[in-house]
Amino acid sequence: MASPQKKSSARIIQVAVPAPLYGAFDYLAPAHVDERTLQPGSRVRVPFGRRHHIGVILGHVDQTDVPAEKLKALKAALDQAPVLPADLLELLTWAARYYHYPLGEVVNTAMPALLRKGKAPSSKGQTLWQINATANAPDIELKRAPRQQQLLTLLKQHQQGLTSEQLSQHVENWRPAMKALVDKGRVTKGEQSCLPEPTSCADPGPELNSEQRSIVDDIKHQANGYCAHLVHGVTGSGKTEIYIALARQAIARHEQVLVLVPEISLTPQLTERFRKRLAVRTAALHSGLNDSQRLCAWSAAALNQAPLVIGTRSAVFTPMPQLGLIVVDEEHDGSYKQQDGFRYNARDLALVRAQQANIPVILGSATPSLESLHNSYHQRYRLHMLKQRAGPSQSPRIELVNLCKQKLQHGLSPKLLAAIDGHLDKEGQVLVFLNRRGYSPLLMCHECGWTLSCRRCDAHMTYHKSKQRLICHHCGADAPVPLNCGDCGAAELISIGAGTERIEQHLQSIYPDTRIARIDRDTTRRKGALQHMLAQASSGHARILVGTQMLAKGHDFPNVTLVGVIDTDQCLYSGDFRAAEHLAQLVTQVAGRAGRAEKPGEVLIQTHHPDHPLLQTLLHQGYDGFARAALAERQQAGFPPYRHLALLRCEAAKPEAGNAFMQSARELLGDNPAVDVFGPLPAPMEKRAGRYRLQLMLQSAQRKTLHQLMQPWVRALSQLRTGNRVRWSLDVDPYDTY
Ligand code: ADP
Ligand code: ZN
Ligand code: ZN
Repeated sequence: MASPQKKSSARIIQVAVPAPLYGAFDYLAPAHVDERTLQPGSRVRVPFGRRHHIGVILGHVDQTDVPAEKLKALKAALDQAPVLPADLLELLTWAARYYHYPLGEVVNTAMPALLRKGKAPSSKGQTLWQINATANAPDIELKRAPRQQQLLTLLKQHQQGLTSEQLSQHVENWRPAMKALVDKGRVTKGEQSCLPEPTSCADPGPELNSEQRSIVDDIKHQANGYCAHLVHGVTGSGKTEIYIALARQAIARHEQVLVLVPEISLTPQLTERFRKRLAVRTAALHSGLNDSQRLCAWSAAALNQAPLVIGTRSAVFTPMPQLGLIVVDEEHDGSYKQQDGFRYNARDLALVRAQQANIPVILGSATPSLESLHNSYHQRYRLHMLKQRAGPSQSPRIELVNLCKQKLQHGLSPKLLAAIDGHLDKEGQVLVFLNRRGYSPLLMCHECGWTLSCRRCDAHMTYHKSKQRLICHHCGADAPVPLNCGDCGAAELISIGAGTERIEQHLQSIYPDTRIARIDRDTTRRKGALQHMLAQASSGHARILVGTQMLAKGHDFPNVTLVGVIDTDQCLYSGDFRAAEHLAQLVTQVAGRAGRAEKPGEVLIQTHHPDHPLLQTLLHQGYDGFARAALAERQQAGFPPYRHLALLRCEAAKPEAGNAFMQSARELLGDNPAVDVFGPLPAPMEKRAGRYRLQLMLQSAQRKTLHQLMQPWVRALSQLRTGNRVRWSLDVDPYDTY
């Protein structure tokens, strides 16, 4: 390695470049540019290998390890002022270090796509082309201008107007013709506001009850600065009203508020509710936005034009110059964890961000994660309990239904069927929950027991009856349904086990005149389908709701009086250390859907293991009792939050390639008395989508030691020759071990 070069005339500029390499890259300022004008957080175009990349300036240094003859100058500065403010760069740097992920890539994920491509931040809306209704010239004059005619016809079909982007999709080279139309007064060029206008007056909402009031007061009276609060209250206990009250106070102090939610597409009502109640410009950041909408919402937040920002996971990286409060709703939800690439946890980063910004952060849930409860038991978070439901409602009665020796009809026990009958009779609404879509998870030969597995995965193909296809839920492979057994040739193939499709069909055959809404990924693929079904569900139009966990997420079904949970057994005996926690959360969340708004509710949970200690604790001591028992188990087994995990995953087309990489990874790691290493071992599903998967688990009670060990290790891994034939990733604080 070359000796450090001392540069006295020009300081070195460090740039985060989007590349799978660790560390920053050093450049010189271009000849005609004073390097002091190049501020951290600004984008620059830099030569990188044989190409050019857009990177972000991190800072200036006096020395570099890069030999003078190799040191290159930046090509161009893209910004007058930083696009990423200092506090955000600090958060991103922290995250890159904690998750051991290349900083350039981390910085890149924090920027909307258009910023990554070099566009300037802008909260201006898109150009909108609209037909001018007042100009009523006959169309004959356009006869010799077919393109103008085409545009006019198109705009007539879209009275609300079309954006330039949309026009480009329909018509090639449309601009000259459009200009002619604008000159003739046939079309007007306007701007589509990028954020919806705030409602003109705020809906006051209900007055807080005494429980809510005292929580809001307590949070308010904490000393200024960082404080983490956990609001633990059953579904419907009024947590959202607490967020709204706190947000209102912050906004009155001219602060900005960041609200993180698991999935906006599932909960558009929540965004609406905040908007109506706070009546301020609201930037919603979620996966449903196109690139320019995203740039606009992001810029509005960054330019302090949106006091309220509501967004999913990646919104935790939104620049907000006046940020004064962060809320993480449904903090236990797994979708806060990014499951590929830069595998961060947005809930955890929200806490880091609040700490760095020295502001309060509120986590809320009906079923807090064991990590968060643990932190609250140890006074790291202030715990606030909401014991009562806020509106007029009663808690449901929960009962376990023993499935042993019962004759099941397509997965439904006689007891559950009778209960469904009773509730429908009394004008109730029924929700049947099963976390498995399709008709049945298995087709089997009745003669010899042959089953059909996916050729690319260690998994069975799921039978989808309505499509008459077999589909692998792990790799998406699909195949026609065989007429005969692939082994003995017998013609009788039977469906083993039930999915949502099967439950729906069976209930429909019993109640042919009752409307049933099945809500799972198969029925909600079409745009707007989910909204339509949720509307049917909450209005009570659909009397029976059958669904997967999509149904368990934050929806309000005021008429549901009976909840049936079809299958708990697969969770009780899963190999994943979070499975029990997930089951308890799910049961508690779906139970929370029953018996609101003055109708007493009933919850029936089917299981072959009614004596299972987990179910018993949950039933008799509630979620809190369960959590304490489960935490004790985690402590014994050495799992989070008592010990910290990191998982090295690798997959390869050839098992030998995976083995070779994992062996060298294991050797590189060496031994450390404070870190236990398990593996390399095959992943629980060894083969998936045609690739062989392995994992190596690191476990330590000392977070610091673990990270000190991983820091050089990851860099060494990225240099491994055996790494060329595999895909590998390091998952810090993995959400699951699959
Ligand atoms: P959570 O977020 O805990 O599920 P919400 O804040 O959504 O609870 O409240 C549940 C329902 O109760 C909502 O319809 C809400 O309008 C109502 N509610 C909440 N707080 C009050 C209150 N103090 N008085 C009357 N109704 C309330
Ligand atoms: Zn498959
Ligand atoms: Zn057979």
